[in-house]
Amino acid sequence: MSQNLKKLQNYMENMNRFSHVVTLLQWDMYTGVPKEGYDKHADAVAYFSTEQFKMSVDPKLKELLEILNTKEEYEKLNEDWKFIVKKMKRDFDRNEKIPQEVYEEYVRALSDSQRAWEEAKNASDFNLFAPHLKKIIELVKKLVSYTDPEKEIYDALLNQYEEGMDSKTIDRIFDNLKEELIPMIQKITAAELPKNSKFEGFYDPDTQEKVQKMLLDYIGFRWSRGAVGRTEHPFTLNFTSKDVRVTNHFYEDNAISAIFSAIHEGGHGIFEQNVKEELDGTVAGSCCYMGIHESQSRFYENIMGRNINFWVPIYEKLQNLLPDFKEISLEEFYREINRVENSLIRVEADEVTYCQHIILRYEMEKAIFRDNVAVEELPKLWNEKMQEYLQITPENDACGILQDMHWSGGSFGYFPTYLLGSIYDGMLLEQIEEELGSLDIILKEGRILEVTHWLNEKIHQYGSSRLPKDTLYAVCKKEVTAEPLIRYFKKKYSKLYGIQL
Ligand code: ZN
Repeated sequence: MSQNLKKLQNYMENMNRFSHVVTLLQWDMYTGVPKEGYDKHADAVAYFSTEQFKMSVDPKLKELLEILNTKEEYEKLNEDWKFIVKKMKRDFDRNEKIPQEVYEEYVRALSDSQRAWEEAKNASDFNLFAPHLKKIIELVKKLVSYTDPEKEIYDALLNQYEEGMDSKTIDRIFDNLKEELIPMIQKITAAELPKNSKFEGFYDPDTQEKVQKMLLDYIGFRWSRGAVGRTEHPFTLNFTSKDVRVTNHFYEDNAISAIFSAIHEGGHGIFEQNVKEELDGTVAGSCCYMGIHESQSRFYENIMGRNINFWVPIYEKLQNLLPDFKEISLEEFYREINRVENSLIRVEADEVTYCQHIILRYEMEKAIFRDNVAVEELPKLWNEKMQEYLQITPENDACGILQDMHWSGGSFGYFPTYLLGSIYDGMLLEQIEEELGSLDIILKEGRILEVTHWLNEKIHQYGSSRLPKDTLYAVCKKEVTAEPLIRYFKKKYSKLYGIQL
């Protein structure tokens, strides 16, 4: 191995020790630190992340990356390390272009705007948030003008969350989907299923945690590399592929929410647990492409978890853990977990109408960054689009434009990745069926681990070492398209609702 590569690896190992501590402190802050211990934790996080940051901008690192990117040294590297040193150099160069005072101003503005967003949401008053949003938008534009001066702003933002993806491609696939969805949702909701009161009841959180464990076991979560915790919002956090943690939130009056959060985060977790070991601790060692990541969690949650056959081998187990479910037939359960209805809140939406929630946000972001629509005009535009796509108008800003925290945290360009995940899933479903046979049969026969292994081999092991569109092309041999997702919706919901879609 090249001496310089060895030096880089040692350098990264030291840097990773800091991020390991930061991650551990964060895990504890989310899951267990007592209220009065919080501040000391936060202080230690600030200290260790600053140390890590200093190492990430150190001239010694720059020099090493420059050497390894020279033709002679570069040629000696294997494919993974070629990707890693190139990406590290690119990230280093980009970060270096941002003047420190601009970055600090941005960090300060973010913390103000997050607080303002919370207040505005509680008061349901967009005007409280508007001046902060305006400032964040200006600062985001400024940052992009340093890091990606040659790129159109919104495309540069999209690239931060799904590298290689641009608005031209997204326009094509989202427009196609939107056109199909508007009439489809109208037909489905006209045949709406009556509410089923059998699901109301009291569900003990400890029992729900047992359900989570049963489900994680079933889909192939590896306990020797995994742990669980409880938090306000479910998420997945990873140190390396050998230590991946998922959380859940258990509602005492609703068992279904945590069931699907368990499967969703389990999908994220399985991805991270199966990135190949050689990539651990490098920029390719964890998947940083949000669309691809989300495609895995949603494949488990929606494509498999909301398929009746997923439950055939384990429904009795579920009924034994949750005795109230003994009164509920599998057919009734299946209908309940696939109820499609126009609703206001994105995170509570079903898999079909969810797409419209994202298309709306994508169009809003384009309106902000491309058409320079004034911030004051945004709530009106939001409400008009809700009416057009979901036939429903929010009665206040809290359940309208203020519902998500993303913009207050400067995350513009993030929303589309959720839907890209589902779009990739349509493609992956067709490819799996071509290679492994009918998914319905695989699930019904309890062979779900065959799917997990397929995903491990085709997607997970690569971590971030392949761009999303290259991954899709390598696995499915086609460009990204929404057609398979549309076919999946039509087939599933025609049958479920007894209608012609
Ligand atoms: Zn997710």
